[in-house]
This record gives sequence, C-alpha cells and structure tokens, in this order.
Amino acid sequence: TKLGLSASRAMRVAEDLYTAGYISYPRTDNTVYPPSLGLKRILEKLKDSEFKDEAEELLSQERIRPSRGKTQTTDHPPIYPTEAATRKKLKGDKWKIYELVVRRFMATVAPPAKAELSDATLDVNGEEFKAKGYRMLYLGWKKYYPYFKINEFFLPTLVTGEEVVLKEVLSEKKMTQPPRRYTQGSLLQEMERLSLGTKSTRHDIIQKLYDRKYAEGNDLVPTPSGVAVAESLNRHAQIVTDSKMTAQLEKDMDEIANGQASLQEVVTESQEMLSNILDTLEANREQIGTEIRKALESQHFIGKCPDCDSDLKTIRTRFGKTFIGCSGYPDCKRTYPMPGGAKVETTDEVCATCKAPMVRVIRRGQPVIVHCLDPDCESNQERTKIGICPQCSNDLRVVYSRAGKRFIGCAGYPDCTQTYPLPQYGRFSADGETCPECGAPILLISMRGRAWQSCVNLDCPTRKKSKKKTTKKKTAKKKTTKKTASKAKKTAAASESPAKTDADKSQQ
Ligand SMILES: [Zn+2]
Ligand SMILES: [Zn+2]
Ligand SMILES: [Zn+2]
Ligand SMILES: [Zn+2]
Repeated sequence: TKLGLSASRAMRVAEDLYTAGYISYPRTDNTVYPPSLGLKRILEKLKDSEFKDEAEELLSQERIRPSRGKTQTTDHPPIYPTEAATRKKLKGDKWKIYELVVRRFMATVAPPAKAELSDATLDVNGEEFKAKGYRMLYLGWKKYYPYFKINEFFLPTLVTGEEVVLKEVLSEKKMTQPPRRYTQGSLLQEMERLSLGTKSTRHDIIQKLYDRKYAEGNDLVPTPSGVAVAESLNRHAQIVTDSKMTAQLEKDMDEIANGQASLQEVVTESQEMLSNILDTLEANREQIGTEIRKALESQHFIGKCPDCDSDLKTIRTRFGKTFIGCSGYPDCKRTYPMPGGAKVETTDEVCATCKAPMVRVIRRGQPVIVHCLDPDCESNQERTKIGICPQCSNDLRVVYSRAGKRFIGCAGYPDCTQTYPLPQYGRFSADGETCPECGAPILLISMRGRAWQSCVNLDCPTRKKSKKKTTKKKTAKKKTTKKTASKAKKTAAASESPAKTDADKSQQ
C-alpha cells in the first residue's frame, strides 16, 4: 500500500488503535455515517491533536455535510477517530494509520473540491488534434487528504476559430503496456470491486496466498503451484474460480442482514450451490490432483541425480530444515545440503567434474553465482578457496551460514575453528597474497564503485598501525590509508563476529 504496510499488518495496527480507544471498530464496509454519530463532537475532540488547525477550519463551516459512500450497512459506522493523539504518543505505523483515519474522516466532512475542465479541438491541415485541461479551482477535501498527486494541466483561453501557431510536430511511438502486477493495496481494491470478501476478511485472504506459497514478494508474483492450482481449477471446476460465486454468497448474507432474504432461503440456496461444486470437484478429483502435484514437483525440482538419474528435489524435514535429496530414495541415498540463506534456481547444466546439477544461487545483496550443487566437489573447492589457514595450513574457503551470511572458514573444521568475517555486500577476490604481519589472506574488496585491499584478520596489527600513524602525521598519502582502513573496518564490523559464525557453521 501507499503507506508501505501490508494489508494484514495495517489491519493489525488498526485493531491495536481500536482497542487502545483511538479509532472506532476497523472491520467495517460501511461508508455512510449514521445521523447519531455527532460529527461536530469528533472535530471538537481533534482540536486537542496535531490536526487542531484543520479541525477548527472544518468546524467553521456553516453546515457540515458528510459525503456518502456506496455501501451502507448497519453493523458499524465507518471508521472515525475516537480520541485525539499526537505523533509522539503513537509513533511509527500506529501514527501512520491513525493519521490516515483522521485525514480520511476530515476529508469526508470537508466541502467538495472544484476543478475546471477544458477541451480544445485543433485543426492542423485537416487533421483533428485534441487537448484537455484540468485546473484546480478549490481544493476542498483534497486539502485534508494529501495522499495522491493532483495533476493539473493548463490550457490557454481560446476563442472558437482562433488561429494558433504550430510549434512542433512530434510523432510518438508507444506500445501498449501489460497491466502491472497487483500490489496488496490494488488487490484489495480489485477484491472490493468484485465484491470478494469483506473488509474484515480480505487481508486474511491475501495472507493465505503467502502462507500457502501461492504467491511471493510485495508485488504478489504467483509461484508455480499458485499458477497450477488456479489453472487446474479453472479447467475442471470453473465455478470455484469464478468471482461471481463468492460475490453472490456475500450478497446473500448482506440480504439476510437487511431482512431482504430469510436465513432458510439462503442456506438452502448455498447448500445446493456447494453440493454442485463438490460434485464437480469429485468428478475431476484425479486430474486436478495430478496437475497440482506435477506443478509442486517442478517447484521442488533441482536437477538429475548423478548416481541414478532420478529427480533431485528440495525436501523439508519435520523440523523445518531443508536439504536436497534423490527421489530414488531409499534405493539411492544421494543428498546435498541446501545452499544457506539463498534462493536456488535450476539450470540445464551439469558439473563437468562430478555430474551433479549446476544451480544458480541468489543471495540478497550478493552477486549471483552458478556453481556445482555439491559443496565438496573439486570445482567448488577451487572456486571458494581464499588462501591458506595460518593455524593449520588447510585451505581457507568462503562458507555461508544457514542465514546466508558469508564468512571465511577453514577446511580443517572441526579440528581447526579459524574463521574470518567477510563484508556481506559487494565482491571480493584473493590472489594468494598473505599478510606479512599475521599470515592471514589479503583480499581485494570492491563495493559501490570503490575498491581496496585489506587483511581479513580484524585483530591484525597492520590495521591498528595504519590508524595510529595517521593520527600523528597528516601527510596526503597517510590520509588515504586511513580512509580505506576505517572503511574496511566498518564493513568488517557489519559482518558477523568470528565466534558467532562459528556457531552457525556447526549447524550447517
Ligand atoms: Zn539418485
Ligand atoms: Zn561438481
Ligand atoms: Zn585451519
Ligand atoms: Zn594481517
């Protein structure tokens, strides 16, 4: 949504505000204030809030005429503020929602906005060109509800028959744009338009799409299983996916509430409808099941097992851990660990060294890498090698914690527990150079267009020395050393401490 909150988060915050007595009951569709509400009294109260000036302005109107929305129900009044609050008292999301409720309320009791629309038709060598103008004359309620931009477009005053000078002819090529993905906010609006759910259930319905992994991300990208469920039901039981069915049910229930239909009528009607649906689903049970199962398999498919050519897929244990296992189990016991804290995508390639599938590994803020699924494969040993451990002379390698944090670990683990932190963003490379002071590898780190060299050891004397020197003398050269050193220290400090990554590593 525009406020940067998910629909269900916004509803939770609103409910908190309701229980704390700041706003009225938030789960309502009603958009018409009942006459008993006392709009003036609410505005009087708001005089104690940060909206004092606005409230006084609105109270000075001769008469307060609230706007009427399309939906009128009798259960609860539209949401309105019940108590004055200040930004200091509420803070953060609570304040955002409270301010929205107050502004919305003020807008509904404010005078209408006035705008001037103008149209001009111009004749250019026999071709007709049209121009439209839009000019705000009086802001009215828009003054109190600044959540959208007003696009004004001025046209000069023209008299019919007047000749104007043609300045330039532009020919613009525009492709039709595909519709944008729904955000949670725009999906809520669309559901409202289609009468799907009520204000109190819509955000729960959207949350279910995430919980069941039918969609992911802020712009609700459907997952393969989400697409499969929708397509399969569409093919075999269209009545379920038709928005009209749910809308009809909602309408029927409203009619009971309004006394326009009897409970018995509606229940009988719904029972008939549902038993029809069950029959349809039952008849297509196997096909729907197979189609969805196939899609789920493709969602979990990683590649082919190098031992038996069966499918390798992601498997979730009962304890919430995931790993990659062969579907030929129990005959084939091939497994691989899941790359830590990463989104893993399949590729068509197999590893030239060990024939395991190559996977595309995506971690937040880090470059995408394609590598062999087997962390013990020689190709990976080579790729992740950073240098030699000063403690035990085994290889030092880039390792990822389960949370996807990267650090340097020793191949001699668990006998050797030497680790070094790595910056969590940007790229780095090692050319085998070691620190003359402590023997740890020296890395070339590049981040946001800058690059510098640094010993990976946070406690290395070279780091402290370069800092001390610069405080004594201020030569131009030393200055730059200080800059890079402190920058490197900052990024290193942002990564995990060796002690903590050690614990993470043991969980791998
Ligand atoms: Zn296998
Ligand atoms: Zn390999
Ligand atoms: Zn070691
Ligand atoms: Zn060092």
